[in-house]
Amino acid sequence: MCYCKDCQAFARYLGSAELLEESGGTDIYQTLPSKVTFETGQEHLACLRLSPKGLLRWYASCCDTPLGNTLSSPRVRMVGVLTKCISDPEALGPVQAMVNTSGASGEPVEETGRRQVIFAFLKRQIGAMLRRDHQTPFFDTSGALVVTPKVLTKEERQAATP
Ligand SMILES: [Zn+2]
Repeated sequence: MCYCKDCQAFARYLGSAELLEESGGTDIYQTLPSKVTFETGQEHLACLRLSPKGLLRWYASCCDTPLGNTLSSPRVRMVGVLTKCISDPEALGPVQAMVNTSGASGEPVEETGRRQVIFAFLKRQIGAMLRRDHQTPFFDTSGALVVTPKVLTKEERQAATP
């Protein structure tokens, strides 16, 4: 669960603030991009950045539903999928970490599990590198993004930030 203001701004910019948990948390499932496939509607895949160097934040442009986040290099094999987009989020198990809790609204939220998240990320990275697992639906085989991200203006970003 990430409480950073940028994750909140992403959902709010797309008019999907209702996807946020109480206190503004975004429930994210970190996994390998190779585990994500788009069976239909790939033409609606769109991407935005809150700033020129910000995370790549993916969404479905047909309904403005936020989908997930990646870094800007396909070499970092990570996607954070918003669990609200998953038909059976219960299957993912309980929340394992609460991070960036200084961005939480209302009652303070205790920061937990950051170290485990980083460790799990590194373990996935190394495993994927050893297996030469570099499938990703977000980049083409030359390493270029499959769509051009829209970069928010400062004003757009500010308006969306809680
Ligand atoms: Zn965040």
